[in-house]
This record gives sequence, structure tokens and C-alpha cells, in this order.
Amino acid sequence: MNHSQHTLKTHKSYHVWYRRLMFPRFFCCAVAAILLVAQTPQPVPERLAARALGDTPIFDDLKELCDGVGGRPTGSPAAQKAVEWAAAKFRAMGLAPSVEPFRIPKLWLPISAEAAAIAPAQFPIRLAAAPFSASTPGAIEAPLVDAGEGTAADFSALGSRARGAIALVHSGEMKTFDDLFAEYLRNGSLAAAAEKAGAAALFLESTRPRGLLYRHPIGLDGSIVPVPTAIVGREHAERLARLAAKGDVRVRVNLRNKTGGEYESQNVVAEIRGREKPGEIVLIGAHLDSWDLGTGAEDNGVNVALVLDLARAFKQLGIAPRRTVRFAPFTGEEQGMWGSRRYVERHRAELDNFAAAMTFDTGSGRLLGFYLNGREDLRAPVNDALRPVSSFAAGDHLIDAIDGTDNFDFLLSGVPNLVGIQDPIPYLPDYHAESDTFDRVNQREEKITGAIAAALLWGFADSPQRLPRQTRAQVEKLLSDTKLDEQMKAFGQWDDWKSGRRGIFQ
Ligand SMILES: [Zn+2]
Repeated sequence: MNHSQHTLKTHKSYHVWYRRLMFPRFFCCAVAAILLVAQTPQPVPERLAARALGDTPIFDDLKELCDGVGGRPTGSPAAQKAVEWAAAKFRAMGLAPSVEPFRIPKLWLPISAEAAAIAPAQFPIRLAAAPFSASTPGAIEAPLVDAGEGTAADFSALGSRARGAIALVHSGEMKTFDDLFAEYLRNGSLAAAAEKAGAAALFLESTRPRGLLYRHPIGLDGSIVPVPTAIVGREHAERLARLAAKGDVRVRVNLRNKTGGEYESQNVVAEIRGREKPGEIVLIGAHLDSWDLGTGAEDNGVNVALVLDLARAFKQLGIAPRRTVRFAPFTGEEQGMWGSRRYVERHRAELDNFAAAMTFDTGSGRLLGFYLNGREDLRAPVNDALRPVSSFAAGDHLIDAIDGTDNFDFLLSGVPNLVGIQDPIPYLPDYHAESDTFDRVNQREEKITGAIAAALLWGFADSPQRLPRQTRAQVEKLLSDTKLDEQMKAFGQWDDWKSGRRGIFQ
């Protein structure tokens, strides 16, 4: 994903511009609109967009979720609180949400992480446990070895020195989505090489400078990697590496994680029934769960707040489109998109009747367009739906197919699906990090995204036509055309698709 062609303005300059220019302009528009409404009713997408841009409780909701509930890894008490919070929000709007339980195969939650250099110098080491890695057997003391990039060749070059040692693996700085994907893609071989070499623990250098820590899952298929693994503050990792180049380094580390077998989580889903074709469905979703070091504002509380505010808009304005619209805060996303996967399984019998599923999961950066997820036939209906908000210029759609958020099981099931494409700022630097907090959110852009999402949702829910569901053969071709098959193999998802455990069956 390369967004470098798009220019960015600072949050502050947007904010000032918004306050000075947009409010008076909205006010004039609002007055003009009221005068106009006396004769002609405003079309629904314009009404929804105007409401989204106006004064709504979207950021009050986000503050409650981020500051009041906080970081909420699936399986934690905070995640449970978030589920109850979302359900209560829907009820307060006058909707009757269904809280849909589902199972996730493996529990992983952090408890504590401590480390210190013992020799040749003593200093505390900043680190955070990597999700889906094992605990250390209490506090361990071991020599630290520099394992370079952590490839199989790097580990075999260390020979027997790696056995029982803490292996430090270097990382480049993460600046783009490509860098982030590369960080994920090396996980499998990294974990396997460290295990084979008999490392006592794995220290991964943080990809973000200035001590910033974040959760980086070392396992992606739900199983627990046996080598205890942590992200280590970038400057501490570099210091350890310099010391190790000179002589022996000893480190003490204690990583305590809670692991367990299958457990339950819930999705929260509310709907506005269609006035003409209630059996046909358009879904808008965002994941309610987050990692815990920060408070999950950009990833992805802000888009949960957007989904809730959109539901509130439909209810308050008393509008019902031709089809049923569903508003879906999913959980289990960070553990491997379990909420949306289980939603698709649970609603299998309805999938022929899904007109579209749309998700947002890259924070509050400027919305540039939509990933069409391999379906060129989505371009025209998306553009039709966006016409009432064309002044916001969110028309840079990409045919790319996305595997990494809650659209994925809809894609595998042949349901037309869309993912918002957004500027990587402010999302990327704070990804899964301590710094993903409410104050990072670009409120002006999020309001505009809300207006665009409203028009898109309405367009798909009210259009006389809809796109058909794809067959298994069509999805198979899509996976190969978009090279998603290669990513699925790297992420350990391919066997489930091939065997029919995941996705459309015929
Ligand atoms: Zn996310």
C-alpha cells in the first residue's frame, strides 16, 4: 500500500481551518438548507452526510471507549466491558442489538514483562511481550547473542552459542505499510529459526524510535510460539548489540503471559430493517477490540465510534433504506479476525442476500477511496453511491484485495466487500503502540469519513440493483489474480480455504 502520492497537512492546520472556515460555512449551508427544505425534501444521503459533519456525540463515544474502557484485548475484562458498552450504546439509540457469542481457539493475554542488563553494565530494559508467545519459566538469566536479522542462516552462524541464550534480532524502522507487512511476514521463519536454535528467549528490536513499545504478534495462526518473545525499545536493543559486539552480555528477563485454550467472545450487531427488501443486507463493521498498551483510538475505536454514530443517524432521522443495514462492532480482530470470521459462519445462510460488507480499520487519516478487493464490478456502484459527497474526493479506489482486517471472510465467501483507504497518518506511527490514544485522532477527517461512509452505506442499501455473490471458482480466480493466495500461504490461512473450512464452498 503506497499512499506517498497524497499530500498531508498537519492536524493543527486542518483544525484551525475547520474552526474558522467550516463552521460558518456549515451554518450558512444549514440556513439555506432549512429554507430549501420548506419546499423540497433534501435527499437522504445529503441529510445523512450533513448530520455526520455537524455536531454529533461521535468523539464523546470515543472518549468513553478509549479513556473509560481503555486497551481491550479480546478475552480480557476490558474487552467484555467494551462489548457491554457497545450494546448499551445501541440500546440508548432505541435499537435492539444482538450480542452474538463465538469461540476463539487460543487465549493470550499479557500479565507483566521485566528485563534488565546485568553485565557488563546494569540498566533496565524497556520491553513488551509479543502476543502469542510463551512465558519465560520465571525470571531467567542468560547470555545475550546478536542474531542479526534472525534468518535461519543468522541462527546457524551462531551455532551452539544460541542454545539457551537470549537472541537479539535487529529491525529496520517502520515507515510505510510495506514495512509493517514485512515485519509480519518474517514472523513464521523467525520463530521457527529461534526455536530450532534452542534460544531461551527472543528480543525483537522495536521498529519505532524513542523507546516506543507496541504489541507485535509473533504467531498469526492462533497457536502459541514456544520461544518467549518481546519487543525491546529500539535504543536499548542497539546498546545491547554494541555491548555484545565487544564482549559477553548477560540479561535477566521475566515475561509472564496468560495463555489458555478455547474461549468465548461476542460481536455486537444492530440493524435498521429494510423497508422493501428486509431480507437483503448491507453491513458496516469495525473492530471493537484493541491491543492494550495504548487505548485503541486509531486502531480501531475511532471507526467503531463512526459505525455507532451512523446507526444513531439512521435512527434519529427515521430513515429506512430499501435493504436492511447492519452495524457491526466485531471483536477478536487482533487475534486473527475471529469475530468477522465467526459472523460469516453464523450467518452463512444469509450470505447470498448480502449486497455488501464495508469496513474501516486504518484510523482517522484522510479517506482517499476504497479497496475494491479484487472486484472491478464494485467501482461503478461505489462511485454512484459517493456522488452526493463527491466534493470530498474519495474516488481513488484500488483493485487490491486486503487480507488483514474484517472484510476478509466476506471476501472468501464471495460477498462484495469494501475497505476504506486512508492516509497512513496518524494511524501508522502509533500502530498497536502505547501512543495509540484519543489525542492522536484527526477529528476533522473522521467527520468527513463519517459523511462519506453514510453516503456509501445508503447507496448500497437503497440502490434498485445489487451485485451478485461470487462463486467459489470466481473467488479462487480473484485470490490468484490479486496474489492474495501468496499472502494467505505466508499467514497460514491457505489450508482452511482449500479444505473448505473457510470461505464459500461451491
Ligand atoms: Zn485494526
